[in-house]
Amino acid sequence: MKGQIPVGVDAPGIHSGRLAPADYLSSFSDSTVALTHIQAVIEAERCYYCFDAPCTRACPADIDVPSFIHRIAQDNVRGAAEAILQENVLGGMCARVCPTDTLCEQACVRNAQDGKPVQIGLLQRHATDTYFANPGQPLFVRAADSGKTVAVVGAGPAGLTVAHRLAVNGHNVVVFDARPKPGGLNEYGLATYKTPHDFAQQEIAWLLSVGGIALRLNQRLGQDFTLEQLRTDYDAVFLGMGLAGVNALGIDEPALAGVREAVDFIAELRQSDSFSQVAVGRNVVVIGGGMTAVDAAVQAKKLGAREVTIVYRRGETEMKASPYEQAWAKKCGVTLRYWSAPQEIHGEEGCVTGVSFMVMQQQNGVLVASGETFTLPADMVLKAIGQTYDAVPAGRTMALKGGRILVDDQGRTSLPGVWAGGDCCADGLDLTVDAVRQGKIAAKSIALALSVAGRVAANDTPSLANQECSHG
Ligand SMILES: Cc1cc2nc3c(=O)[nH]c(=O)nc-3n(C[C@H](O)[C@H](O)[C@H](O)COP(=O)(O)OP(=O)(O)OC[C@H]3O[C@@H](n4cnc5c(N)ncnc54)[C@H](O)[C@@H]3O)c2cc1C
Ligand code: SF4
Repeated sequence: MKGQIPVGVDAPGIHSGRLAPADYLSSFSDSTVALTHIQAVIEAERCYYCFDAPCTRACPADIDVPSFIHRIAQDNVRGAAEAILQENVLGGMCARVCPTDTLCEQACVRNAQDGKPVQIGLLQRHATDTYFANPGQPLFVRAADSGKTVAVVGAGPAGLTVAHRLAVNGHNVVVFDARPKPGGLNEYGLATYKTPHDFAQQEIAWLLSVGGIALRLNQRLGQDFTLEQLRTDYDAVFLGMGLAGVNALGIDEPALAGVREAVDFIAELRQSDSFSQVAVGRNVVVIGGGMTAVDAAVQAKKLGAREVTIVYRRGETEMKASPYEQAWAKKCGVTLRYWSAPQEIHGEEGCVTGVSFMVMQQQNGVLVASGETFTLPADMVLKAIGQTYDAVPAGRTMALKGGRILVDDQGRTSLPGVWAGGDCCADGLDLTVDAVRQGKIAAKSIALALSVAGRVAANDTPSLANQECSHG
């Protein structure tokens, strides 16, 4: 059998249904234990409510962390959710997936005092989950129709943030996405155990309920429509297309069954009706060092693989996956091997059988092969060495930097009337919350440009409904 594994179909050495049905449920249950209300109030009371709080400065979305935590301590959970969602409309998802150990919680002054930060992510989740369970009156109200239209390409975190902000400002937004479901990597990429129970779609349904946003799914820029058409038909265009391409390993990649992209494996898992239908190898080797590598490896293990090894060419501290993510992978039974670069993929009868690696070392800051090699047996190899921006659909007319779209400090591209944000742009953090940050910046700039062009007011933050905050 040659080529990539047909999605959802068993291949030699790779099988679905490795576990008993009950084991899948426990394996893929929510990896985080949510706080009870009492626990949340007690945790909130650990906060010093710092002036010019370092946690807020460390939050890319600019959430006023002490303010929302103070509201939880005062038993005003709806008010806390309001403070979060006003700055980050995807605050529910970010509470689940932000690497808080490198963002807000790393900056918490409690680290220095008692070695443990206030659990900001868990408190944010408590506030947003409590709100979503019983939303009551809408939090956001749309301004009067501005008569302006905005096209957003990509329904990921960046595009959804822009769409929501501009819709609240009264603009009419049309969001185009190539996939059958909105959400981008919230729906197709993030680990299943971080976002169980279809949370991504529930959050999007709530976001769209503000009105003024039309979704056009299965619509691909560069195939079903062009950027020039959008520039002609709409008052402004935002590009939030993420990263559609993948990096090559840089060695010969024979077409062997069992070798595939980690992002495809994860997307298949996220979209499967039943985990028991997702095929996984017995010995899985994951090549890479980011969140994708960790998520693919952990989920392969949870599907019943016997040995799962992440192999990364540099050291532990250089790895893009945070220390927390690395510890999580080890806790889940994944082996991590550092300082090893792939040398050759081995196969027999069209199926992968193993990967040889060169042991690497650093000499004067340069990564060099030590001469030592080793081979890991593998019936499945997942490539997770980074994704790339595909410039073709947008027509190659915009200035790029490092292969991604170049934007200024307002999210403007080199093309008049076209803004961009999220992973497809240069100089970002490649995190959900950073896509939100970039979406906010672009939305503010678009709103300003539309107001200068006539008629409408540009609001920095979305208008919240004028109502009392209910308690609990
Ligand atoms: C496996 C994986 C795990 C991750 N885990 C985490 C995590 O735990 N925490 C975290 O903070 N970040 C994580 N990230 C990163 C995070 O998911 C991204 O930074 C974030 O989703 C970027 O948002 P975006 O809107 O820029 O792009 P995306 O989420 O990629 O959305 C882009 C959208 O554009 C659409 N699109 C692409 N091309 C076209 C086209 N030509 N026409 C129309 N539509 C198009 C796509 O279908 C997609 O819906 C992870 C990423 C991966 C790959
Ligand atoms: S959005 Fe993320 S980084 Fe910002 S406060 Fe919430 S958990 Fe921390």
